[in-house]
Amino acid sequence: MGSTKYYSIAIVGAGTAGISIAARILRMAPHLKEKVVLIDPAEKHYYQPLWTLVGGGAALKEDTVRDQKDVIPNEAIWLKDQVVKFNPTENQVQLQSGLTIHYNYLVVAAGIEILWDKVKGLKEAIGQDGVCSNYSYEYVSDTWSNIEQFNGGTAIFTQPSTPIKCGGAPQKIMYLADDYFRKNGIRDKTEIRFMSGIANIFQVKRYADTLEEVIQRKQIKANYLEELIEINGSEKLAFFKNIETKEKTTLAYDMIHVTPPMGPPKFIAESPLSDVAGWLDVDPYTLRHNQFKNVFGAGDCTNLPTSKTGAAIRKQAPTVAENLLAVMENKDMKQRYDGYTSCPLVTGYNRLVLAEFDYDKLAKESFPIDQSKERASMYFMKKSLLPIMYWNGMLKGTM
Ligand SMILES: Cc1cc2nc3c(=O)[nH]c(=O)nc-3n(C[C@H](O)[C@H](O)[C@H](O)COP(=O)(O)OP(=O)(O)OC[C@H]3O[C@@H](n4cnc5c(N)ncnc54)[C@H](O)[C@@H]3O)c2cc1C
Repeated sequence: MGSTKYYSIAIVGAGTAGISIAARILRMAPHLKEKVVLIDPAEKHYYQPLWTLVGGGAALKEDTVRDQKDVIPNEAIWLKDQVVKFNPTENQVQLQSGLTIHYNYLVVAAGIEILWDKVKGLKEAIGQDGVCSNYSYEYVSDTWSNIEQFNGGTAIFTQPSTPIKCGGAPQKIMYLADDYFRKNGIRDKTEIRFMSGIANIFQVKRYADTLEEVIQRKQIKANYLEELIEINGSEKLAFFKNIETKEKTTLAYDMIHVTPPMGPPKFIAESPLSDVAGWLDVDPYTLRHNQFKNVFGAGDCTNLPTSKTGAAIRKQAPTVAENLLAVMENKDMKQRYDGYTSCPLVTGYNRLVLAEFDYDKLAKESFPIDQSKERASMYFMKKSLLPIMYWNGMLKGTM
């Protein structure tokens, strides 16, 4: 039998959501110093939004990572351990080490699980012979090597039908590749194909219209409802299945950027905290769990019907922090999250469409300009300003 430790607030996952929420809570309620525990086995913390630019050779991989110990708020406790089981009726979580954590309030922010195994042959092929993915720190540099060394032929970019983090990322890297191939004088001997498991280029018409024009201008061949099901790395063949017709297609590639299928973390899906699809079941406006009233959630692991992004978490974190503290003081929850999310759609080096919208897929734009247009100013913001705001503002609970 392992021992038990008690904390006022336990936060599962010290990624974008977990740290932002912990920092907010501790700023607003300094008396909770050392009563908030962040549980996460990861020694590194990643600023994943920059991986698109790392894959495109426009940012350094090393600039996207910090030691976890340096981003955990000083006033919080970090347990470098993995949660293996939730027991919400007993207000307990079970850790890999055997330790049991007893809490008054729980925040679940464990991110999304990447399902490399769901595409046959992908795990064996990734990182070699033209197969790359921006969706992991380990492989993101391979994307740039492939783009930089590309000499013409077929370049395929895939998107799965599952929910993913940053719905725009599978196409952003394709636009960077196109731009680079043009600059390198090899675009006329290159075929670029977008093979997507979803039905359209983007879910909000205002931005989809612009992206359709980008696809046309760049002469990219886009196919929808096409799910990547298998990769044969040695033969350089990719196999797709049409989601509606079930028809199978085989394409030969010279390079392929894969966005792998993703799903809810298994330990959430198997717990009483999940909805039928396996995601953390929270109220879309208060972010409180629908059944267990001392549990809150944020980020990619939740069933919030909006696009899973760090930008969404920037709005979710204050909602969770303020509502949780209100519940702790027996007050009404005043904060409402409206589904705000944002996707900085990089369309080339120095070009970006800043999509911002809510649950109703209505634009919620931050700037008094037409954000559906490609702009250099927005690219500068993504590349140079947002990372500073992330490390120095969002993770400190100030923005
Ligand atoms: C290529 C790419 C491009 C992107 N582009 C953008 C963009 O332009 N703009 C944008 O806003 N967002 C973007 N995103 C998405 C953004 O990075 C994520 O939405 C965000 O990081 C999710 O935060 P999170 O806290 O939910 O999960 P994460 O930040 O992934 O953190 C989850 C944490 O939970 C921990 N954890 C998992 N299981 C357990 C367990 N059992 N016990 C304890 N801890 C556990 C993990 O170790 C991890 O530290 C991009 C992502 C990628 C990969």
